[in-house]
Amino acid sequence: AKKRDGKNGAQLFDNVMLDRARSRAEIEANIEAGLVDNWFEAFLQPIVNLNGRSIAGFEALMRLNHPQKGLMPPAEIISVAEETAKIVRVGNVIMEKAVGHLAKISRISGMQDTYLAINFSPLQFEATLPARLAAIVGRHGIRPERIVVEITEAVLMHDNPQIRMLVTELRRFGCRIALDDFGTGYSSLSYLNRFPVDIIKIDQSFTRAINDGDDDVRQKSRMLIEGITTLSHKMNCTVIAEGIETEEECRTLHQMGLDYGQGYLFHRPQHAAKLIEELVAPQSNVARAS
Ligand code: C2E
Ligand code: MG
Ligand code: MG
Ligand code: MG
Repeated sequence: AKKRDGKNGAQLFDNVMLDRARSRAEIEANIEAGLVDNWFEAFLQPIVNLNGRSIAGFEALMRLNHPQKGLMPPAEIISVAEETAKIVRVGNVIMEKAVGHLAKISRISGMQDTYLAINFSPLQFEATLPARLAAIVGRHGIRPERIVVEITEAVLMHDNPQIRMLVTELRRFGCRIALDDFGTGYSSLSYLNRFPVDIIKIDQSFTRAINDGDDDVRQKSRMLIEGITTLSHKMNCTVIAEGIETEEECRTLHQMGLDYGQGYLFHRPQHAAKLIEELVAPQSNVARAS
């Protein structure tokens, strides 16, 4: 009986591995098809000023819009795209589309100062990145100062001289650098003196924790965010809170001195065409009324 259990156990394990391999292969096939058939979209989520809620910028968030399955969640797609190095091609599509969206939004709404934040995986930091980004913004007539390059610890962790050089080059070109998901890694603070960072995005787990039912967790989270914000401001960094879902979170974070916020309370990530409709609707109403 013991032997059979062992065998069944091994078989179960094999089946789980097989399922996983199949689904990864399926995702990889979808990524490839998406690149060829143009299924990738750059959704946009506005980032607002916590003081007054005007739009400061937009974050581009990748979506794979499968013709049968519809929108597929990005987390799995990104991890498979990273493993298979397809993230470079996907990233190039997102850059092109997102910058195009920003140009269109600016044209239609008249907003000329809003920025565009684009997420980058470590593999995307190849030698051709600055020239490619320069070509895209040039073609769309967007000033490089309006582009924010969002990186995570995963990019900085390598402490790779080439990545460091590329980040410096992008910044010299005019782009700003945002450190994403701040506070979730192992040594977030130590990156601040080694890399030129302009924006700190405090991870949404902190936004949740400031209203935690446990008094101790709540108080410590608030002190941590306040400390990070004070520190960031001393280093001339802008601070953004991610994942704001309630008025209470918004109020508390504003009181704590954070600059910008991003979250479902204000806007969900959405298709650029829908966002444009939403952005111009109040103006066209005014135009119609007058
Ligand atoms: P991220 O860069 O930290 O992006 C913020 C995530 O929070 C997005 O998830 C967004 O939809 C979600 N979010 C925004 N507001 C709220 C809120 O109020 N509540 C909650 N619960 N979530 C909120 P999304 O779109 O699923 O993207 C997940 C991650 O995938 C991103 O996290 C980013 O790391 C990565 N990613 C997305 N697009 C790209 C891309 O084009 N390239 C690369 N390399 N990575 C990307
Ligand atoms: Mg991001
Ligand atoms: Mg983030
Ligand atoms: Mg995140």
